[in-house]
Amino acid sequence: MSNVFGRRAVVVGGGIGGLSVAGALAGYFEQVDVLERDRLTASVESRSGTAQDRHPHGLLAGGLKALGEIFPGFERDLAGAGAVPVGLAQDARFERADVGLLPRRDFGISILCASRPLIEFVLRRRAMCRLPWSMSAHHWPA
Ligand SMILES: Cc1cc2nc3c(=O)[nH]c(=O)nc-3n(C[C@H](O)[C@H](O)[C@H](O)COP(=O)(O)OP(=O)(O)OC[C@H]3O[C@@H](n4cnc5c(N)ncnc54)[C@H](O)[C@@H]3O)c2cc1C
Repeated sequence: MSNVFGRRAVVVGGGIGGLSVAGALAGYFEQVDVLERDRLTASVESRSGTAQDRHPHGLLAGGLKALGEIFPGFERDLAGAGAVPVGLAQDARFERADVGLLPRRDFGISILCASRPLIEFVLRRRAMCRLPWSMSAHHWPA
């Protein structure tokens, strides 16, 4: 039986959420169109549609795992592009006002720290190379 639900799905917004949804839908629609308001460039740049992107970002383990399920190899790509792994409670320490600095522990959980523009850029590149036949966007980089 075919997995295809329909001919065309339209996703509004080409940020991290929109690209993830497009990747998840791609197996179920013949064509997935991503409509993005901003003009996207072929480089890692801040943009007005994601005003939060100047704030430093760390991709938490759950998000990283979910993105890797949609786009296999995403974590390797992001690390290769310069994201820095940070071990929780190892490299980054937590402090509570009542007890002070919490001891180092190895929980085996790490996050990948990178700017939001870099995370989105790597995700977009992966989406474009995995789904070239099914994605189009207003203002997609030429
Ligand atoms: C200060 C701050 C710090 C954060 N730090 C972290 C962090 O450390 N780690 C982490 O994982 N998350 C962090 N987040 C959250 C993270 O940035 C967001 O969860 C993530 O960007 C959400 O992605 P999104 O694609 O859903 O939405 P957005 O990033 O908001 O993207 C929405 C997209 O839709 C487009 N759009 C909007 N309207 C239209 C329209 N009408 N037509 C076409 N396109 C449209 C916009 O241009 C944009 O590209 C932080 C957020 C903030 C505010």
